[in-house]
Amino acid sequence: MHKTLLRWGGLILAGHLYAHPGHVEDVSTAAGGASGLPPSEVRISEQGGYRVIQANGVPNHEIGQFPGPGCPNAASAQSYSFRMPLQPKTNATFTKLKQQAIGVALNGVPFDPGTAEYWKNDRTSGWHIEAIGGGKSLGLDRNLAHVQPNGAYHYHGIPTGLLATMSEQKEPKLIGYAADGFPIYAQTSQNRSSYQLKKGSRPSGAAGPGGTYDGTYEADYEFVQGSGDLDEANGKTGVTSEYPGGTYYYVATAGFPFYPRMLKGTPDASFHRGPPGGGPGGGSQMKGVGGSGGQQGGKSGGMGQAAGGNPIQKFDKNGDGKISMEEAPPPMKANFSQHDTNGDGWIDAEEAKSLPTPRGQGGGPGGGGQPPQ
Ligand SMILES: [Zn+2]
Repeated sequence: MHKTLLRWGGLILAGHLYAHPGHVEDVSTAAGGASGLPPSEVRISEQGGYRVIQANGVPNHEIGQFPGPGCPNAASAQSYSFRMPLQPKTNATFTKLKQQAIGVALNGVPFDPGTAEYWKNDRTSGWHIEAIGGGKSLGLDRNLAHVQPNGAYHYHGIPTGLLATMSEQKEPKLIGYAADGFPIYAQTSQNRSSYQLKKGSRPSGAAGPGGTYDGTYEADYEFVQGSGDLDEANGKTGVTSEYPGGTYYYVATAGFPFYPRMLKGTPDASFHRGPPGGGPGGGSQMKGVGGSGGQQGGKSGGMGQAAGGNPIQKFDKNGDGKISMEEAPPPMKANFSQHDTNGDGWIDAEEAKSLPTPRGQGGGPGGGGQPPQ
């Protein structure tokens, strides 16, 4: 038994574009017309203690030209089914996220601030290239968004096109939800991130790219407690119109980190990115969303899609996005250090790519997928 509430654009958003369920043409004209994409579709419901956001990932605003300079990928409709607890809990420590959507906007487009770009293309270098403010153009459009190799349009910064549909909303404006269930609001004049550019120069030679800390790399920034009003996850506790009793919430800021790079709560597994080139054939059902969240798998590198062949989703029992020694099955345990290449005690999504595909998950042959952008 589950109850499906059909609400376009969210429970609280009552802007005129969202006020008429089914009037898809209202929200879709620009995106669909400009780019040949289908109409934007998003359905937000509550099922068994979770908020479920099912969407085709097509935004309700115009997008840039894709493929285009800096981004060789064409945008296409996805089939997302994200879920998050309706009553999220904070943890004592932050959970660092790695190359996955940190949340999803009310229009069904993921927030995915990280990149797959590293200094010298070496992901072990510790020099992770930023999408915004860096030296390398990744072809972001006016919404600070671009497209993954699998066609997934996603935001790296504040989506101005989405905000433009919310002019009647009170500040702070709710723009989406994080993977742990806490809301994400757009920055107001009161909010300031507590991340600062480091002073001086980066190490050079083998240790680093050298040059001044200018925001090209994630590691150009450091958290300086008290320099802004937001915490390490770009969040704070406060009262908003949607949460009159107060809540922890994240803020999307115009400057670094733009979106949280770590979460205060526990991210739901539906936000984990599938392995690149997951291939056709993954058809396993999403678990625990009242039986209606099942998705056809097979889009390479998809997020919020089927878990076909994803060892993290299979073995990550506590949903922190990585496999611990305890969670690892005996054969994996035996070779744990081989897979845990950075030796931090967990096999994360990146490291899990070296694992064999779990049996019984229906993951088809993959390979050949490009890294995410
Ligand atoms: Zn990207």
